[in-house]
Amino acid sequence: MKAVVLFPKDRKVKVIEVPEPRLSSPGQVRVRTLEVGVCGTDREVARGEHGRAPEGEDYLIVGHECLGEVVEVGEAVKDLKPGDLVVPRVRRPCASEQCTPCREGHADFCVTGEYTERGIQGAHGFCAEFFVEDARYLHRVPRELREVAVLTEPLTIAEKSLRQVRLIQQRVPFKSERASHAVVLGAGPVGLLGAMALVRAGYQTTMYSHSRKPNKKAELSEAVGVPYVSSEEHPVKELVKQRGKADVVYEAAGVASAAFALLEGLAPNGVFVFTGVPPSEKQKVDEGALMKRVVLDNQVLLGTVNAAAEDFDAALEDLLHFQSRWRGPLESLITARHPPEDYAEVVDGDKKSGVKDVITFSRG
Ligand code: BGC
Repeated sequence: MKAVVLFPKDRKVKVIEVPEPRLSSPGQVRVRTLEVGVCGTDREVARGEHGRAPEGEDYLIVGHECLGEVVEVGEAVKDLKPGDLVVPRVRRPCASEQCTPCREGHADFCVTGEYTERGIQGAHGFCAEFFVEDARYLHRVPRELREVAVLTEPLTIAEKSLRQVRLIQQRVPFKSERASHAVVLGAGPVGLLGAMALVRAGYQTTMYSHSRKPNKKAELSEAVGVPYVSSEEHPVKELVKQRGKADVVYEAAGVASAAFALLEGLAPNGVFVFTGVPPSEKQKVDEGALMKRVVLDNQVLLGTVNAAAEDFDAALEDLLHFQSRWRGPLESLITARHPPEDYAEVVDGDKKSGVKDVITFSRG
């Protein structure tokens, strides 16, 4: 079958023929890949800055944001059947007996760092005509989400973040009179999907992103009721003057300097959520001033990665809601669909479109 693979040694992405995977245990499912999303992490993987090939292999099948269609199920699989649409989770547990999170089914909180992630860390991904996966890592997708379900995985990042923000904010022993305010940093797909989730969760939400208006991302943001402020035109001070400080900042830009600059826009008792995996950036930060503010304002700086089964369920539920509320903007987040042969140019930027690029394997 056809697969898009990265050869880490020479950092080349190619389409090659690889053996088609077969079921090897009764709990497995064989899936035909329909679509695979391309994101910033894939860019880092292609550049050799993040991720690795499976042990003993010289290439990695890329892709971790996937929508597929079940073609075959093992005899122990009860909840899925051929024809069902599914999205796979990304991370698989490490093998260490000492890793309580992995042993208890919470690989997204793995403590050894020896987890694998399909298409990223030591396990083949989904950018191939077929893949095989244990049924427990697959989530059934309602048919009506066929055109947008490839966005499930990037949305799970926001779902896990929001779930943790809710838990953390139980620490605040009073209820504010005003609606909570959120700022999303970065109007890429993770940011735009996060903004939709924040709006649905009742936050008065503002998008803060680099490019000046007019641009496609600003249009999409405003189409879902989230005002867009360009950081190129308006420094953080002005953002705060215009929109007030944020009870929650959802960082989805993966640019460390932009994230730390925005700390100034975090309200007392607020939570700053970091989701990006940025390249190294050596900057002068006044650590004293930073620490003083975080302490005197009771703030929480939260890093979050990956997502759990419940976040995938929440993402699918949110997508149904987004689809009925903002069908046009939601579908327009996918700005281009490409054949697998274009992957290398999509990931290195030559064929990158406005917001989300998707590789199409089959129309199903
Ligand atoms: C993926 C996560 C993954 C993280 C780190 C993100 O792009 O969505 O599933 O855990 O990268 O590799």
